[in-house]
Amino acid sequence: MTIWEHKPTSSDHTFVSRAAKSSTCIYCNEKMQNLKSYFKHDGESKGVNLTGTTYHLWCCPICGWWNANGSLGTKDRHYYRIEHRASVGILKKLDIADISTPVNEIQSFLAAKWEERRKCNPKLFEDTVVSVFGTEYEALPTAYTKDGGIDCILIDANGKEIGVQVKRTKKTISVAQIRELLGAVMLRGFTQGIFVTTSNFSPPAVTAANLACSLGTRIELINGREFLEALKIAQRKMYPDRESFIHEVGTPALEHILDIDEIERGYPQWIGRR
Ligand SMILES: [Zn+2]
Repeated sequence: MTIWEHKPTSSDHTFVSRAAKSSTCIYCNEKMQNLKSYFKHDGESKGVNLTGTTYHLWCCPICGWWNANGSLGTKDRHYYRIEHRASVGILKKLDIADISTPVNEIQSFLAAKWEERRKCNPKLFEDTVVSVFGTEYEALPTAYTKDGGIDCILIDANGKEIGVQVKRTKKTISVAQIRELLGAVMLRGFTQGIFVTTSNFSPPAVTAANLACSLGTRIELINGREFLEALKIAQRKMYPDRESFIHEVGTPALEHILDIDEIERGYPQWIGRR
């Protein structure tokens, strides 16, 4: 389910070091959240020369990217030594053009790398739109609704049906495309439609939607930037609390930073294994 991999052999130390220090997500730019902190001191404390292990796991609440960093302080008779360790999530190689890729992975991937949205399989993008709106509306299966001008039907809390058209494109949406959705919505007897695109709407398209609205059929226009915001809100709901993050991240990050033995001896309740 997670789009993040842990690569214990990752040798790009410069990247890991830079990424692990970042307070914002290096993918979606969201502020990172502290997921777990771990301190185990061996009692040999003198001023700043604190010996023991300090460790933090940070996670992005939007795309789920994680970074973990910590330090191990040791002291012999003459020297105080501090060793820094870090590990970061690596984005899985995900084929977003492949229809068999799970929608929840596509959704997280698009949150992390929105700039790649146009490589997404159009049907998968459609399913992602349904999945994003599915947190607020009930969605009818696409195959059931497929007909001219409407890709899917959403049903709001009052039972009102809404026709949705989705266009994964780099071209600006024209007035003709708005008319097509409007026609399809009216022919089905609906009073509301939503047009979602990865691009933007032409000024005549916006005028047509406003006119339709003033005549009693609401056509809502959601451009690429606005859809990304909706997608981020849906992603946040995927991780409502720390435990759900932890379930997503799992233990590999921790195992890489500290010895497994160390984790289990020092903090046995740390995180359950999957
Ligand atoms: Zn992120």
